[in-house]
Amino acid sequence: MKISEILKNEDITISMEVFPPKSNANYDDVEAAVKEIAKLKPSFISCTYGAGGGTSDNTVKISKTIKDLGVTSMAHLTCISSTKDKVESQIKKIKENNIENILALRGDIPKDMEFPMDNHFRYASDLINEIKTIYPEACIGGACYPEKHPEALNKDADIKNIKKKVDAGCEFLTTQMFFDNSVYYNYLYRLREAGINVPVIAGIMPVTSKRQMERSIELSGCIVPPRFKALVDKFGDNPEAMTNAGIVYACDQIIDLLANGIKNIHIYTMNKPDVSREIYTILRGII
Ligand code: FAD
Repeated sequence: MKISEILKNEDITISMEVFPPKSNANYDDVEAAVKEIAKLKPSFISCTYGAGGGTSDNTVKISKTIKDLGVTSMAHLTCISSTKDKVESQIKKIKENNIENILALRGDIPKDMEFPMDNHFRYASDLINEIKTIYPEACIGGACYPEKHPEALNKDADIKNIKKKVDAGCEFLTTQMFFDNSVYYNYLYRLREAGINVPVIAGIMPVTSKRQMERSIELSGCIVPPRFKALVDKFGDNPEAMTNAGIVYACDQIIDLLANGIKNIHIYTMNKPDVSREIYTILRGII
C-alpha cells in the first residue's frame, strides 16, 4: 500500500525503521529481527540504504521480505555516491519487486568526493525527478531536519530547499531524530508558514546506550537537552538501566507528540525487536 494512503486514512501511524546487513554473513540475523518487528504490525517498515554494493542489494531484499510478511514497506534510496546508471537500475529493481514506497535521499557526501560530480545526481529533488520518470506510480518520501541540515546556510534556506523537494513530488517527509519536542513543533510551524503542507512524520530514536547516543549525535548533529544528557550521564554505564531509561524517554516524547495532535510517528528501531516490543507495551491503549 502507498504510505500517502496510510497517512491519509489511519488516525495514528507508528512506523519503524530497520537497516540491512553490511555483508551477507549476518543476513539471517537481520532477517530474523525484521520478522519479529513485523509481528508488531507497524503502519509501515522502512529499510535504509548504504552506498556500498552488498547493502544496496539487501535493501530491496529486506523491503520485499517486509512486504511478503504483510506489512507495507519502504525502500530508502540515496544518489550521491552512485552513478546515474546505478541509481536507474536500483529504481527499476524496486519497481520490479513491487515496492510501492521510496524514501528519496541524496546521502552524505563521501569525504574524498568532489561535489558535485558529473554523472551523479546532486540533490534529493533530482532523484525524485528520476524516480518520477522511471516509476511514476511510486509514492515518494523525503528527509527533513528540524534543527536544519548540517550543510544548509540557515534554517530558512534549508526550508526553501525542502519546498523544492515537495514541489518535485515528495508526498511526505520524515524528520531527523530530535530529543526535544519543542524543536519539532517550531519546525512544523515554519514548514506550514512556507506553504509545505505534506505530512511530516516525527522521527524518534530510542537511545539505549551511551555509545549509540554519541554516534547518533555525531551523525545527525542534533542538540541533546540537559534532561536527556543527565539521564545518559547517570545510567550510561549500566546497560539495563540505560535501555529502560532510553525507552521511557522515547515513549515520553511519543506520548507528548500524540497529546499535542501529532499523528505520525516513525521509530528508529535499529533492528531491535525487544526495544520495539517494549515501546508497544508502554504505549498500549495509547496507540
Ligand atoms: P537533500 O534534500 O538533497 O539536501 C541536502 C543539502 O542540500 C541540504 O543542506 C539542503 O538544504 C541542500 N539542498 C537541497 N536541494 C537544494 C537545491 N536545489 N539547491 C541548493 N541546495 C539544496 N542516509 C543514507 O545514506 N542512507 C539512508 O537510508 C538514510 N536514511 C535517512 C532517513 C531519514 C529520515 C533522514 C532524516 C536521513 C537519512 N539519511 C540516510 C541521511 C541523509 O542521506 C543525509 O542527511 C544527507 O546529507 C542529506 O540527504 P537529503 O536527502 O536530506 O538531501
